[in-house]
Amino acid sequence: MTEAQDPKPLWFSFLKAFTRALTQINLYKPDHPQVRQALDEGQALLGRISDAAGGADFSVTLDNDKLLMNGTPLLTADKLPNSLKNLYTRFRIQTITFSRGVTGDDLLALCQVQAYKGEARDFLKEKGVERIKLNEAVYAKVEAGGQPQPVQAPGQAGAVQAAAAAEPGAAKVAEALAAQDLQSALSTLAGRATADQDEQRKIIELLTVKFKQELEAAVGSALAEVRREKKKIENDMVRTESVMTSMAGGVVVVDREGKILMMNPEAEAISGKPLAELSGRKIMDLSQLENQVVSLAKEIKPESGTDITKDVERAGSTGLAETVKRSTAIIQNEEGKIVGAVSVPTDAAKLKEFEQLQQDFIANMTHELRSPLTSIKAALEILGRESSPSAPSRGILNTAIRNTERLNGIITDILDFSKLQSGKLVFHPEDAQPEEVAKEAVEAMRAWASSKGLNLSVSSEPGLQRIYADRRRTVQVLINLISNSIKFTPQGGSIKVSADAGRDAMAGYVFFSVADTGCGIKKEDQDKIFEKFVQVAAGEKAGGTGLGLAITKAMIVLQGGKLSLESEAGRGATFRVAMPVFKGQGDQPVFEQVPEMKPGNKSWWQKLLGM
Ligand code: ADP
Repeated sequence: MTEAQDPKPLWFSFLKAFTRALTQINLYKPDHPQVRQALDEGQALLGRISDAAGGADFSVTLDNDKLLMNGTPLLTADKLPNSLKNLYTRFRIQTITFSRGVTGDDLLALCQVQAYKGEARDFLKEKGVERIKLNEAVYAKVEAGGQPQPVQAPGQAGAVQAAAAAEPGAAKVAEALAAQDLQSALSTLAGRATADQDEQRKIIELLTVKFKQELEAAVGSALAEVRREKKKIENDMVRTESVMTSMAGGVVVVDREGKILMMNPEAEAISGKPLAELSGRKIMDLSQLENQVVSLAKEIKPESGTDITKDVERAGSTGLAETVKRSTAIIQNEEGKIVGAVSVPTDAAKLKEFEQLQQDFIANMTHELRSPLTSIKAALEILGRESSPSAPSRGILNTAIRNTERLNGIITDILDFSKLQSGKLVFHPEDAQPEEVAKEAVEAMRAWASSKGLNLSVSSEPGLQRIYADRRRTVQVLINLISNSIKFTPQGGSIKVSADAGRDAMAGYVFFSVADTGCGIKKEDQDKIFEKFVQVAAGEKAGGTGLGLAITKAMIVLQGGKLSLESEAGRGATFRVAMPVFKGQGDQPVFEQVPEMKPGNKSWWQKLLGM
């Protein structure tokens, strides 16, 4: 038999020479003749083994209990020399593969591995050994206190995992894998799965293809979602843009900082600048638009508690602000937080025109109504004087006169309210006698009160200080209160008007009281009745406008006075008006003659009147 047909004798010889070298390197220096001889022999034998195998690699594997040469069992482990066994087990080597052309120095390095503290592979690499490859063994289990037992690489992931979990070197492998790129990590794993290099290549290829396919599928489906979202957003944008563009009014969208995000051509025309120039700027930077944006932060209370910044202020008149407020929509995100607002600013100039138109209309309308009413009232009074008091028509005449007075009162209310709203109600304060003011008001209402069978009386505390007030307006205030008392007090009741001095903290005031025995006002309605257009109790059928008390309170407060109410349902009502005492010219406080609106600084009465 040739060496090619039966290489076993060669393998044995090589094993002997190699084992000798392994032992002797521990006893002698590397250049000792004994060592050199063993290495030379080993090298020569490897050459012959390679020749016999046609140049193929030569592998020496230590399986559980056998030594295999090129996969062929040669010896059982118990027959192996310790030096060889130790080399395998200490460095967890499964297979040593010798390629063609191994030199004596390569073999020497392999023998010197025994004394090395680190990894055997690293040592060979350091020595530049390329023709000897070491494949690490995969350990299935560690016997308690015993040596780890190498197994033939199973090539199955489960087994590899089991081994990695149990074997102390697994942590090192995991560490090594973590530091490697994908390709190297795959090579490492494949190397641990099988010693066969072809097989290893196949495993790597297979895993690479699988990985690619799965990655492509995952990226594909993630991208599909993104594409769908993109399409949706594009559609939304186109829709929003076309709605905005086709709107007749100017539309500006701001973010929560008040910076402009979008505006339509109409808004561009109002501001006089294109969006490209204004985008990102604060809406307040635009003089033409600033009049039209309400203080979103203050006016619209967000439930989420996140305000639109206070920088988004409004300027201009209250009317404008109101209009814009109504045309402003708050944009909230999914969590309900305010992220911005859409405002539809109307042309400021046009809005001013409308305001003026409204005021002119009220002034003209009330004037036009009042002149014929004055004539009718005068005519009725002449008729009343001419007819005898006992004539049957006398009652009808009186009713007609009273109704003209009431109509006149309503017209006065509307006019006063309009003047208050536009800031045109002017007061002329002077020092006045409180007794006179009270008497004048009572006298003006006496006829009406007696026609209703009510007892109207007036009294004053002696020695009252003079007050500082617009006399005519103060009389009007008392008339308003007395007329309410007349309206809401049933026949036979009484109305007491009195003037008395303020005490203690209120010493600087004189009090006028209007106390009636009428239906009274429920506690829960007592704040409401001072609001405009609020009527809580049904009084006379032809009741007023609901403006009376709102105007009355505004007139009192604008003169530095106070108005309070004490009442219980069914037990009458007492309204008390405190007016400041006259302190001498120059010492009086300056009243708010023309109520000028300052943004965010509204007084209670401006809010009351919806200004
Ligand atoms: P109006 O012009 O309708 O009288 P006001 O503003 O003067 O409006 O009054 C508002 C409401 O307050 C009245 O409709 C009435 O319900 C209530 N009120 C005012 N004064 C009295 C009073 N002396 N007694 C009972 N209710 C009153």
